[in-house]
Amino acid sequence: MNLVDVLNGIWNQILEITSLFVMPDWGGLIGLLPVLVVLGLVAPFLTFVALGTVIYLVRKPRVRVNYVEGPRAAEIGPGGEPVFPVGLPYCRRDALVYPSGTHRCETCHHQLAVICPMCGLGRSALIDTCTNCGLVLKVRNRSVAVPASAGPKPGGAAVA
Ligand SMILES: [Zn+2]
Ligand SMILES: [Zn+2]
Repeated sequence: MNLVDVLNGIWNQILEITSLFVMPDWGGLIGLLPVLVVLGLVAPFLTFVALGTVIYLVRKPRVRVNYVEGPRAAEIGPGGEPVFPVGLPYCRRDALVYPSGTHRCETCHHQLAVICPMCGLGRSALIDTCTNCGLVLKVRNRSVAVPASAGPKPGGAAVA
């Protein structure tokens, strides 16, 4: 058995098979041209959208911190009721939480309420001393970054 002949036979078969695919089918290529053009336009567009999404996701945390400057929507608890963080003024009608130092709701212009961080009693945001436990809520006019989780802030209140 001649190994070279066998190899040549295999090689010829490979050439025959590949020629079926390599032979340019110009009609088919021209038919594919619109698809290629669309791909050439859509691919950069998709890349642009993907890049924009990545940039948006990267910048998102900064936007959230800036958002603390104004009112933000209160988190909705498991019962569908808005959950207001303690120590921050809030409007129960509009379910908005305001930065420390705000007294009136920008939406309904009603007085804001605040929950005492120590005893959990609600009162008007105009009163800075808790009538129940005497805790004085320090009002800072400079807006502060508020963590997403509701809870007493370590620097937000001081015992009288
Ligand atoms: Zn309101
Ligand atoms: Zn209190």
